[in-house]
Amino acid sequence: MYKNNKRSWAEPFKIKMVEPLFMTTIKDRLRYIEEAGYNTFLLRSKDVYIDLLTDSGTSAMSDRQWAGMMLGDEAYAGSENFYHFEAAVQKFYGYKHVIPTHQGRGAEHLLSRILIKKGDFIPGNMYFTTTRLHQELAGGTFVDVIIDEAHDPESEFKFKGNIDLQKLKDLIESKGADKIPYICVATTVNMAGGQPISLQNLKEVRQMADVYGIDIVHDMTRVAENAYMIQQHETGYEKKSVAEIVREICSLTDHATMSAKKDALVNIGGFLATNKDDVYTEASNWVVVYEGLHTYGGLAGRDMEAMAIGIAESVQDDHIRARIGQVHYLGQRLIDFNVPVVMPLGTHGIFLDAKRILPHVSQENYPAQTLAAELYLDSGVRSMERGIVSAGRNEVTGKHNYPKLELVRLTIPRRVYTQAHMDVVAESVQAVYENRAAVKGLEMVYEPKYLRFFQARFRKL
Ligand SMILES: *Cc1c(COP(=O)(O)O)cnc(C)c1O
Repeated sequence: MYKNNKRSWAEPFKIKMVEPLFMTTIKDRLRYIEEAGYNTFLLRSKDVYIDLLTDSGTSAMSDRQWAGMMLGDEAYAGSENFYHFEAAVQKFYGYKHVIPTHQGRGAEHLLSRILIKKGDFIPGNMYFTTTRLHQELAGGTFVDVIIDEAHDPESEFKFKGNIDLQKLKDLIESKGADKIPYICVATTVNMAGGQPISLQNLKEVRQMADVYGIDIVHDMTRVAENAYMIQQHETGYEKKSVAEIVREICSLTDHATMSAKKDALVNIGGFLATNKDDVYTEASNWVVVYEGLHTYGGLAGRDMEAMAIGIAESVQDDHIRARIGQVHYLGQRLIDFNVPVVMPLGTHGIFLDAKRILPHVSQENYPAQTLAAELYLDSGVRSMERGIVSAGRNEVTGKHNYPKLELVRLTIPRRVYTQAHMDVVAESVQAVYENRAAVKGLEMVYEPKYLRFFQARFRKL
């Protein structure tokens, strides 16, 4: 019913309102990127033509969501919109308790603070920047237990988000289960290129967690996209709807953190969910300190209404099929141009393999950062670095972390750009790829202490 639908993935919506875009000249862009310290995060959005920096908070809301915004109940406590939002989380994700937060990291902060003790270890299927930082700030150490294939951009394995059960077991056995507050499972794995985890793997992780009495925290930022990949590629799920698969994934975990700015189609918002009453009680206390009362968590009533509606829209098969269809359309065009991209194609963006595109730029000269700047110069397309800059420094030695992957992410906002925009992007990447031999690297001239990729500045070599 759902798998291998041969019809085109055309969008299940039509356009009712438009926002103009403006082109810049190469002369303008030379100035803008230099002023931005060769960091695409420091560009002004008005100077960007097609913005593929992130899929976070950049999606287009539906007319239903905008209508919901008008129904905002802006009471300080007990807003009606909170109860709609709570019901949506319970219906579509199945978690018992939910606390809204201003975005995903607000939830990560609270949960890390509650569950992690100093000296703990937190295994996860690859790190995410804010997730790991909150684990570290709470006194924990992140340990990567993702399968090796995830670190190999050429491996075509379909479920590169899977956890390596041996690595997980070895960690638990060597540190002791009491030092592992939880296993962090992300759907999909952002830093691996938007790669999904299989339900079979998650079930095995659940079994192991039960043997040792360890909880599972679900980073469910892109759970609907992960569910779609399971529907398409995992045996036994071809006849299940995305909504059913999403419920099954959530049912295998104990707690969740969500950035609703991704899957759930809102411009701001997130939440923490849990099935455990004691964690809920503690979180509803801490949220007052850092975000706001537990019935608004830093959000307006209207934001919670938009989130409730967005959650329902995000698990519809037609929506998710067109969303990932567009991402894969761009990816296929780049493959046709022979541009090295992370395989298999992920769900929220296409990841250019900067190590293979710029083999003459050493990792100390930031090949992915360089490539992102070159792409902006060529066409005004904004992308972002996911490589050594994002990986930061080792807490103890102060040295760079050297990730195997040195990627440029072309992240596609949901329901925002057309197929013609994807063509423009593909042609620009091709042009940069053809001129790659002339490209030199960068040196860092300003380095912030935390999450340096957001604000670091560079100079051309
Ligand atoms: C974006 C993201 C987060 C953090 O969410 P914010 O809303 O940006 O704070 C956490 N985990 C993953 C996998 C993400 O992509």
